[in-house]
Amino acid sequence: MSKEAFGEDFIWGVSTAAYQIEGAHEEDFKGHSIWDTFVRKKNKIFANHHGDVACDFYHRFADDLELMASMNIRHYRFSISWSRIFPQGGGQVNEKGIDFYNKIIDLSLKLGITPWITLYHWDLPQVLELRGGWTNRDVVEWFTYFVQTCAERFGDRVKNWMILNEPVVFTGAGYFFGVHAPGRKGLENFLAATHHAALAQTTGARVLKEILPDSCVGTTFSCSHVEPYRPLLRDIKAAKRADTLLNRLFIEPLLGMGYPVEDLPILKRIERYIKADDEKNLHFKMDFIGLQNYTREIIRYRLLVPYLQAKIVSASKRKVETTAMNWEVYPASMYHVLKKYSAYKNIPPLIITESGAAYEDSVVNGKVDDPQRQVFLEKTIAEVLRAKNEGVNVKGYFVWTFLDNFEWAEGYRPRFGLVHVDFENQRRIVKSSGDWYANFLKKKT
Ligand code: BGC
Repeated sequence: MSKEAFGEDFIWGVSTAAYQIEGAHEEDFKGHSIWDTFVRKKNKIFANHHGDVACDFYHRFADDLELMASMNIRHYRFSISWSRIFPQGGGQVNEKGIDFYNKIIDLSLKLGITPWITLYHWDLPQVLELRGGWTNRDVVEWFTYFVQTCAERFGDRVKNWMILNEPVVFTGAGYFFGVHAPGRKGLENFLAATHHAALAQTTGARVLKEILPDSCVGTTFSCSHVEPYRPLLRDIKAAKRADTLLNRLFIEPLLGMGYPVEDLPILKRIERYIKADDEKNLHFKMDFIGLQNYTREIIRYRLLVPYLQAKIVSASKRKVETTAMNWEVYPASMYHVLKKYSAYKNIPPLIITESGAAYEDSVVNGKVDDPQRQVFLEKTIAEVLRAKNEGVNVKGYFVWTFLDNFEWAEGYRPRFGLVHVDFENQRRIVKSSGDWYANFLKKKT
């Protein structure tokens, strides 16, 4: 398979996120985010790891961007740390924070790399969490001010924007299960956070478009192909509820269809957070939708699971091949999610804004050989092509991720990078999968 099969205009890149790589968590007046706070709670994160230093990208970005360019990568998706720009959540801009992202943007452009900015990749300023965070409706206004500032300060050079990264993950893991920052639990927190995130998604996009009419604005969703465990009606129904939650909760209101209450009745309770005009405001015509897929989920009926009566059957129980995240290796999931999302009426073009696999790579004689990751990427990219050849309007593919980094609650154990990072000395080694990607991206002459 060659990249030529995708056509000249297909976008190939890599993705990262601020908290996972930057470090410098208190440098140059940066304020704490909910992740800076959460990692300090005992036993929330594997081995009590934290992102204080991470990949030290804050100091090493120039070398890293040069390495990226040397690997023929021409599109770079990264996120902006809100609390670096606004240590107090809003109010006075921290010029040092602006400088940092200006340097990244300018150097990227100089190296021939197009920047793609994610405005929110899970690191809410802690001061705003103290005021209720995503459960407080005011978050829509706070976020919009941040978006406006980024558009005004970076928009002269940045064309491509994503409003949110995987809202169902930060509301689910952060406000329902409490396993991600800010560690809050319960249905009410989840539903309030969900509605406010859905509103922030479109309010942010509208403001961005007003300031930068020529920009290309999207948002990103986590998505997984969902299948019932057994061909029993109760498993089939459970799978439908899980699918509604995992794949449909945010895209459907965005497309003007409202929340998918019919297929997940517990969502009716979100109504108490909905005010006049919200329904209309949840709808916005994005320029693209970012899809992020890693695996598939197998679902069975389970009466005791509150609200959902459905449970994921873990990959280890199914004895299938897995990655270091214990996620099933199932590249065809990519094809299925592309087909599923493209079936919506009026769906904007799709871009795969994250795709990748974690393995426990090791350095042997100064080299990192990771054939499993290469095979995973090759097979997954082939699934993108299969969908494209069947008419799905997919325009790009970004590998998650460039550098091994802080994998949230899993700490530094699972390595997702094309580039290995030694967290003792910050040494970078391009893995064999990184060499493969570089070669794949090389312009054929
Ligand atoms: C997130 C990334 C994360 C990756 C692998 C996505 O859910 O956007 O931040 O590292 O998946 O778990």
